[in-house]
Amino acid sequence: MSQAPNYAPVDEKTFCAVHADVETALRCNRCGRYMCPRCAVRTEVGYRCRECVYEQQGKFYKATQRQQVVSVAVVFALGLIAGFILPRLFLIGALFFSLPVGVAIGELAFRAANRQRGRRVPQLAIVAVVLSALIANLGTLSDTLQVVELANRLARQVDTSAVLSEILIQRLSPIVVYTALCSLAVYGRLR
Ligand SMILES: [Zn+2]
Ligand SMILES: [Zn+2]
Repeated sequence: MSQAPNYAPVDEKTFCAVHADVETALRCNRCGRYMCPRCAVRTEVGYRCRECVYEQQGKFYKATQRQQVVSVAVVFALGLIAGFILPRLFLIGALFFSLPVGVAIGELAFRAANRQRGRRVPQLAIVAVVLSALIANLGTLSDTLQVVELANRLARQVDTSAVLSEILIQRLSPIVVYTALCSLAVYGRLR
């Protein structure tokens, strides 16, 4: 006597392809593997696994290592020049020129890499802008530091806080504004 086959619906448990202990019903819509919420990446075309996303991005980021280095080096070199000139045009000049100059730097850096995008280039370009701005304004920064020190020493006799904050704002704000706007523009262009 044979046993009747069991047709009762069996809820088959499925698990994440990466995290074998995490139960999930979600599948990558490209390769079909199961993935837990931690592994799923939301894309414009639905949820995908990290590997599929990475592979898709690989078609987008095609710059060689050399092209990426060249790109970031161009940002750094031009950042030294722009970072020297623009903060010296005072706050108004920095506000006015930093974005267009940043876009131009990004464009030249992009062309220097034969118009190929690099995965880490936008972030490294920000580092290059900040570093070059620091170097280009080393004189101003160390001067300001000395003024702060002097003001601190005089603070025992007179109230220097108003003068001090004015000097800080006057000297540092063009540098800060330039660095922020320029890195934003460079990042936007290279992204
Ligand atoms: Zn996949
Ligand atoms: Zn997972």
